[in-house]
Amino acid sequence: MKDRIEKIRLRMEKAALSCGRDPLDVSLVAVTKTVSADNVKAAVGTGVTIFGENYIQEAMKKIDEIDDNRLSWHFIGHLQSNKAKYVVRYFDLIHSIDTLKLAQEINRQAEKLDKIQNILVQVNIAMEATKSGVSSQDTISLVREISSLKNLSVKGLMTMPPFFNQPEKVRPHFKHLAQLKDQIQRESIEHIQMNELSMGMTGDFEVAIEEGATLVRIGTAIFGGRS
Ligand SMILES: *Cc1c(COP(=O)(O)O)cnc(C)c1O
Repeated sequence: MKDRIEKIRLRMEKAALSCGRDPLDVSLVAVTKTVSADNVKAAVGTGVTIFGENYIQEAMKKIDEIDDNRLSWHFIGHLQSNKAKYVVRYFDLIHSIDTLKLAQEINRQAEKLDKIQNILVQVNIAMEATKSGVSSQDTISLVREISSLKNLSVKGLMTMPPFFNQPEKVRPHFKHLAQLKDQIQRESIEHIQMNELSMGMTGDFEVAIEEGATLVRIGTAIFGGRS
């Protein structure tokens, strides 16, 4: 695993340098859905500190078992309002906020814990029927509505673009998300920061970095295939 993580770090660094970006501006989120606590600990041993989980039940068990407060846990999966209280308790950043209703519930739970919850707004960039996320047309108005919720802090945008075997085909979608982020930044909405772009996975993270990703979410290339 150490070798695989080192190779990914080198590839991330090379992709950043190739387009004149500072490699320190791109963080690795190791995606650990279905991965055992022991394998997560092995990744921690190689210096990984940010982990992404999709399923709340699985994640809570694992996070409690690993019990390491140096780590930062990100929630990257589809989220239901009735799980909001758990997510707020366990996660530093939620990548998958896509409705006002969900944002309001997360805000309510965060208020109870006296926490400012960091979130990203998930955009369904290619308008795929099967994917979560707000449409790109509705993103700015959703961000505006969320900006009035006192216990949420919007940090940027996330997307899951369509899958292609050739990463170049995903590039226009990454570009589009980056443009949307810039557009929202120019609106200077109060309480809204738009610094993070969560995009790029095992098959396309280099292209995502070239288009401005600050968080790449990588599972398979680190932990192998999931059954
Ligand atoms: C599983 C998953 C990933 C990681 O995908 P890999 O192709 O295994 O790197 C990234 N983001 C989300 C939202 C995921 O569900």
